[in-house]
Amino acid sequence: MSEFDFDLFVIGAGSGGVRCARISAGLGARVAVAEERYMGGTCVNVGCVPKKLYVYGSHVNEELELAKSYGWEIETKGFNWHTLRENKVNEISRLNGIYRNLLKNSGVEVVDGTAVILGPNTVAVGEQIYTARYILVATGGWPFKPEIPGIEHAITSNEFFDLDQLPASVLVVGGGYIAIELACIFHNLGVNTELSYRRDLFLRGFDDDVRRHLKEELLKKGMTLKFNHNVKSITKSAEGGFEVADSDGNLSHYDQILYATGRVPKIDGLGLENTAVEHNGQGAITINEHYQTSEPSIFAIGDVTDRVQLTPVALAEGMYVAHRLFGEGRLPVRYDAIPTAVFTQPPIGTVGLSEQDARAQGHEVLVFKSEFAPMKYSFSEKKERTLMKLVVDAKTDKVLGAHMVGPDAGEIIQGIGIAVGMGATKAQFDQTIGIHPTAAEEFVTMRTPV
Ligand code: FAD
Ligand code: NDP
Repeated sequence: MSEFDFDLFVIGAGSGGVRCARISAGLGARVAVAEERYMGGTCVNVGCVPKKLYVYGSHVNEELELAKSYGWEIETKGFNWHTLRENKVNEISRLNGIYRNLLKNSGVEVVDGTAVILGPNTVAVGEQIYTARYILVATGGWPFKPEIPGIEHAITSNEFFDLDQLPASVLVVGGGYIAIELACIFHNLGVNTELSYRRDLFLRGFDDDVRRHLKEELLKKGMTLKFNHNVKSITKSAEGGFEVADSDGNLSHYDQILYATGRVPKIDGLGLENTAVEHNGQGAITINEHYQTSEPSIFAIGDVTDRVQLTPVALAEGMYVAHRLFGEGRLPVRYDAIPTAVFTQPPIGTVGLSEQDARAQGHEVLVFKSEFAPMKYSFSEKKERTLMKLVVDAKTDKVLGAHMVGPDAGEIIQGIGIAVGMGATKAQFDQTIGIHPTAAEEFVTMRTPV
């Protein structure tokens, strides 16, 4: 008989927690997972999945416009928010069930409730006490809102997906993934959308050409972009909606305010004080290269470590921990060339270094760029343009970064990510035969550096 109830007790059935629990159980470990809110975590319930479904839903608007240019005479009665929302609710509850069954069928015990760590090997969920050889903290993150007067009137991405009504106008505050993705959804659904960002150009850290290109595309679509803009206060208006005062002395009215100003690790009430687990003061749990905290029996992965907040990264970290604890080990997670997409409309896909980061790291770079009107829009009035860019090390010929703004950018960059991760050279890109006619073939046909 083991001295512990379980080999592994996972806190949080989100992307990382579910993956680690399932793989560990598959490797023969006795595993439990506690979940307080929703099976599948942020990604499934208030993140990637509903977001992507809403991106598809809102993009139909543009497809309908395009259809006319191909001769389709379509009359619509407009858009029904409640249909989209209810279909989303049904799909997510289907996925919740699938996640629960995946765990059960893998032999993982699912405990519904909030887990509190009582000691290095002890967890409480309600009245029930569990002991485990290892504890995995995979509690994710939570939206952060700055403390300004009236901030309680602002919603976050958590509330966005289940709004009772679509507002007539919205101010979205922030310049990261969430702010821009949700602003695009609002805008394409016909909401009068303004985006407020505190610096001169959104998506800090992305390639500058990509940021500028997206800005131009959003302006063409009629979205209002307020850069170098700071909200000072929000007040509820007697006629409904909200008044926003900014630091330039302007007062503007909106039906809804959405803050997307980052996410913080979720460690409140977790009981870390009962252990030697350390965090950085903002809640990001400190871990070593094996995701082990300063309490040797406790591990942490995913957003709660506040490193790279992406589902595939949490999944990879979960796999690593499972194999390290119960298997024969696994290659470390690679953080140097993580492909990522921003599901704006048009979307961004990117992998590797931006031009400015490559230069800052001392690379002598060659830059290849292509900008063109997608063939799909040949017959339409649409003025959207696609950008593709390769950043190449002039000395080694290695492709350091690949960037795209345009339809299917995420789908295209996923494949390019393999090549960049393997250290492919520009000559090897050039040697690859293109697929014609596609937009993706531009990545293997750009010949002259700019
Ligand atoms: P989570 O998935 O957040 O799971 C943590 C779980 O722990 C939650 O279910 C929570 O309820 C539970 N929990 C917390 N505390 C306790 C406790 N004490 N006891 C029991 N349970 C607890 N990433 C992408 O890669 N692509 C995207 O397109 C994308 N879109 C996003 C869109 C939005 C709007 C948001 C908010 C995020 C998006 N992300 C996206 C990020 C992605 O969702 C996260 O990086 C990912 O979910 C992190 O996984 P995790 O396992 O660390 O935590
Ligand atoms: P981000 O960290 O990406 O962006 C936060 C934004 O808010 C930044 O523009 C930041 O500005 C701004 N900001 C921060 N604090 C304040 C403040 N006090 N006042 C005004 N503005 C402020 O966070 P998100 O919330 O957008 O998303 C969280 C993470 O979730 C992302 O980083 C990403 O990893 C993940 N995600 C991934 C998606 C995908 O893969 N497609 C989609 C959605 C989320 P500044 O630039 O000045 O710091």
